[in-house]
Amino acid sequence: MKIREIKAKRIIQKTNIPDADWVINPYVGCEHACRYCYARFVCRWRNTKDKWGEFVDVKVNAPELAAKESKTKKGVVIFSTVCDPYQPIERKYRLTRKILQNLNPNMYVVILTKSDLVLRDIDVFKRFKNIEIGLTITTFDEKIRKIWEPKSPSSERRLKALKKLKQEGFSTYAFIAPIFPYLVNLEDVVKKVAPYVDVLMFEDLNINAAKQEIFSTLKEHFPQLVEKYKKLDKKFWLEKIKEIKTLGKKYKKPVEIYFKHVTW
Ligand code: SF4
Repeated sequence: MKIREIKAKRIIQKTNIPDADWVINPYVGCEHACRYCYARFVCRWRNTKDKWGEFVDVKVNAPELAAKESKTKKGVVIFSTVCDPYQPIERKYRLTRKILQNLNPNMYVVILTKSDLVLRDIDVFKRFKNIEIGLTITTFDEKIRKIWEPKSPSSERRLKALKKLKQEGFSTYAFIAPIFPYLVNLEDVVKKVAPYVDVLMFEDLNINAAKQEIFSTLKEHFPQLVEKYKKLDKKFWLEKIKEIKTLGKKYKKPVEIYFKHVTW
């Protein structure tokens, strides 16, 4: 893993992500190295040959910047879009923690991670009146999880983190995304996470964002699905929307659907 300490010019950036105003990325790059990761486009900015999942740029001055920049900021700030804020290197640098310690407590914070390291910062989360904490869970089939998300904590550990966060009284959500067509039974995931979350969020698999990696993973591990993935269409995803709405009713949880392939 190539670790590079850098100084950022800014740490709180505007974002187009739905329901958010700002984004904070303490790091650029991610040790979790998910095969489908949409953030791999940042490799093009960096002017190096480093591959996604093999580098992390650490914004060492991020905590000071957060204190300064957040003083006058309002609105929703999300952690993070081009990294996981609780990837392993956060144990050493504690940047996410220090940023949260310095951030204007009037901001509305949204955390999204795949790691139970998030539990370390429960004390700091309590600084904020408005905070939502989400864990991504794509599947409880560990064989499938390890293929797509090889270096991230298991889904069971993520589930335990959600349970603890709920016990501590936080607003929590499960980000069930991306949905892997023909590989994941959504109800298996919903049934397990529903008791510990306030809302269920779903996103479709954005094949175009990581086409080469997705198809090479399919060829290697699920060759029978290559043609099916090529033929995925609006009809398929509209059926998924129906299924999600039915599951939301069955498990009595609100659902939020962020599908890029269909509008409705
Ligand atoms: S955890 Fe998120 S940012 Fe990190 S590689 Fe996976 S999808 Fe990308």
